[in-house]
Amino acid sequence: MFKPVYHLRTRHRLLAFLLALATGALNRPAPLESGELGTVAAARNSITADQLKWHIDALADDTFEGRGAGTPGGRAAGLYLLKEFQKLNLVGAGNDGQFFQDFHRGYRNILGMIHGSDPELKNEIILIGAHYDHVGYGSSRTSNGPLGRIHNGADDNASGTAGLLELAKAFRSLPTPTRRSILFALWDGEEQGLLGSKHWVETPTLDIKRVKLVYNLDMIGRLQPAGLEIYGTRTAQGLRRLICHNNTLENLSLLFNWKIQNNSDHYPFFTHGIPFLMPHTGLHPDYHRPSDDSHKINFPGVEQIGRLSFDVIYQLAELDELANFRSAARQESPRSQQRRERPLKPLPARLGVMWNRHDTTNGLKIIRINSRSPARRSALRIGDRLISINGQAIDSTHFFQAAVLAAPQQTTLRVLRDGAEQPLDVSVTLAGKPVRLGISWRMDPSEPGTVILIMVRPGSPAATAGLKLRDRIYKINHQPFHDSDELLSLVTSSPLPIQLLVERNGKLSSVELPDLLNQSAEQVKSAPHDAADAAE
Ligand SMILES: [Zn+2]
Repeated sequence: MFKPVYHLRTRHRLLAFLLALATGALNRPAPLESGELGTVAAARNSITADQLKWHIDALADDTFEGRGAGTPGGRAAGLYLLKEFQKLNLVGAGNDGQFFQDFHRGYRNILGMIHGSDPELKNEIILIGAHYDHVGYGSSRTSNGPLGRIHNGADDNASGTAGLLELAKAFRSLPTPTRRSILFALWDGEEQGLLGSKHWVETPTLDIKRVKLVYNLDMIGRLQPAGLEIYGTRTAQGLRRLICHNNTLENLSLLFNWKIQNNSDHYPFFTHGIPFLMPHTGLHPDYHRPSDDSHKINFPGVEQIGRLSFDVIYQLAELDELANFRSAARQESPRSQQRRERPLKPLPARLGVMWNRHDTTNGLKIIRINSRSPARRSALRIGDRLISINGQAIDSTHFFQAAVLAAPQQTTLRVLRDGAEQPLDVSVTLAGKPVRLGISWRMDPSEPGTVILIMVRPGSPAATAGLKLRDRIYKINHQPFHDSDELLSLVTSSPLPIQLLVERNGKLSSVELPDLLNQSAEQVKSAPHDAADAAE
């Protein structure tokens, strides 16, 4: 929809803006903190909320009229970005060594490169991509309305474009370039159906076989407390683990989504058999509306995503070897994720009694015996006070729960009973096999050397330490393991306490499984309990 009056006004503003750019009148922050020039950490920390804001404000300004592909606003945004690539001294990687790759009706991709420093690995490329176009004034096909007003697309995708510029600056400021080459690709025509990235995959400006992974930045401006969505980790082995190991500085909650959709520029590469990663801060009510404006951007959030991305890409560009495309990802979905992470059915309690956890001075007083439980089949009665198990005194709930889990099937409980002068010994046949740590796990073919917890027995050392279903175990006693058998032998041969490196929602933590059977009640630092009653 064309609005001549509006249009003229914005043309003037565009001219003024470009003039200001050319004369350096806009107050742009310095690129690097002085004093820490030339280190990897300095390069990473050169990505700042201030500079991201500067780029997002500029790209999402009305002067670019919503950056519609092939429109004057879109072309002006392309020129602005060309200047940025030139300022960073990137090497042109478009047609004939230029930065542009023109296609369709005045559409243009912008491609710049940093050559790798390793004689062999520099032939391999990590591609960082972002689309810089948006939907202009909107059309019934591209906009959620209202139509006819400028859709600035601050989140979609000035945020990803700004992130790419900051990453390019950070990688340019490294003392030595990374071993692999890095290609920066700003796509046009994404909003018309991924036109720019499709065009490049069909007619690449360099050998597409060199591209080992695509890091797609699309909508990273609205980070929520719930966390950052990450797509694509299933497209090569070990990507989730690699991201989590690099998340220690930012410590963001990461929501790994197995869904792979034809909704952004990673997709043409994915169908071509190239692994990808895509951070994404989620859809929102301003999505594809004129209200997707700069003041709604979470700038510190973009900084966090930018820095995490730097760390992840730096590692990908430096590793000796990168995993190949994992074609099984084509068949995976959130349903496969549910199946892979599905918990085991809880096992019945080994004993089947409940006691009052606030009244433990003189044994544990039984307040309930479950029907059809081992306790029901024994001579135990409600009101009995449990004072020892197989000769070991019961001094706490934690101890008793762990002791019942670990006890042999034929077990003797000593109880005090009202009316009886002497303590009574009651023998019970406990259900199931003895349990030591209280965890069961499942492997994940996409993440070798990692397991998913699918059971955490209540009362076990694992539960007491706070482990939860779907936690990932990465290391045991600081040692990595390769498969389930190796983990099992480590678990069974290591004495308690055991240190685990655990990942939950992208965050790593070290967790100690306590030796509940040989620890006093005060030593047990347990996960909080709400219930007044405890059971086993
Ligand atoms: Zn979009």
